Amino acid sequence: MGVTLDLTRAAAAAAPAALNLSGLARPELAAALIEAEVVRPEKARMRAGQLWRWIHHYGVTDFAAMTDVAKETRAALAEHFVLARPEVVERQVSRDGTRKWLIRMGPGIEVETVYIPDVGRAGALCVSSQVGCTLNCTFCHTGTQALVRNLTAAEIVAQVQVARDDLSEWPSPKEDRRLSNIVFMGMGEPLYNLDNVAGAIDIIADNEGIAISRRRITVSTSGVVPELGPLGTRTQAMLAISLHATNDALREQLVPLNKKYPLAELMAGIRAYPGLSNARRVTFEYVMLKGVNDSPAEARALVQLLKGIPAKVNLIPFNPWPGSTYACSDWGTIEAFAAILNRAGYASPIRTPRGRDILAACGQLKSESEKVRASARRAAKA
Ligand code: SAH
Ligand code: SF4
Repeated sequence: MGVTLDLTRAAAAAAPAALNLSGLARPELAAALIEAEVVRPEKARMRAGQLWRWIHHYGVTDFAAMTDVAKETRAALAEHFVLARPEVVERQVSRDGTRKWLIRMGPGIEVETVYIPDVGRAGALCVSSQVGCTLNCTFCHTGTQALVRNLTAAEIVAQVQVARDDLSEWPSPKEDRRLSNIVFMGMGEPLYNLDNVAGAIDIIADNEGIAISRRRITVSTSGVVPELGPLGTRTQAMLAISLHATNDALREQLVPLNKKYPLAELMAGIRAYPGLSNARRVTFEYVMLKGVNDSPAEARALVQLLKGIPAKVNLIPFNPWPGSTYACSDWGTIEAFAAILNRAGYASPIRTPRGRDILAACGQLKSESEKVRASARRAAKA
């Protein structure tokens, strides 16, 4: 019996994916151009600057649109590199205007990104840093999804680009933006992927591109203490801490990472966060779980814990998800908790749940992506 081999498909499968330029920092962009021999080394910086504006200020996805770049250079760029956006698999819009995109970064690699209007200066984009999460906070939907992998800087930037495409915010507007703030509060623990998070922030904050100031970029962590200093030094981003409890016994139940980095260590790490001041306060996130962490005594304990730290508290009503075992505190209980914090001088807004109808609220994000075991991959190929 004869077998016909489809060599064209085999060759395509074997070809390495072309490099996406939108995840490269400026020096990397210049180096990539030199390496591909698209420009002469002495012209690389200038050419990289020109490309940077096209990619990050104008948001183009096609080299052909770069009208001030010579035709032959554009052709050479297209031969070596790509600028394409990842595929948006699903787009949902909530009754309250919140938008959620399910973005496919590669086969089986899907993440969710959420735009929330009227948060921050104009509107905030909640980006994911990992597919799934290694941590298992017991109230979090993402925590039920095993880590598939870290996102690259390009994939983090791509989430901003996709949102901007949808909000028609190219070229990058100076005023009247709808997307004014970025929060790393989507899927994953950003401090377990600091290199790529820091690389993405360098790109997002660059003045000649997306130009979202570092003061409007917040990184939320469940408390990876050794990475707090490096986060501050490398990114100058605003810090948010998912606290949720005021004693180790309870925090261990809610945020198991507390066993590794208990409260005393965490609070010391926060106090040492570079750039902390009254103008640049830490946000403490505190999810309100009925009968678990919402008593007046716990509010008072929180005040004690925060003493001397320039801080504000974000009270997050618990958002349920399929299979969750907690309930959200009653509204009156949340208000009483907030009043104790307010009286002690801490701003403590209650975060209105947004996008609950499309499972876009805090802690509800999850994708179907699963880590495929090497054995299963081999079996599928056979
Ligand atoms: N991994 C990071 C960032 C993502 S989670 C972190 O844990 O900080 C963003 C915020 O949503 C965190 O404060 C998290 O504790 C909170 N959260 C998770 N599940 C939630 C839920 N079901 N309801 C409300 N908030 C939740
Ligand atoms: Fe991971 Fe944050 Fe969810 Fe905890 S709350 S499981 S760290 S995404």
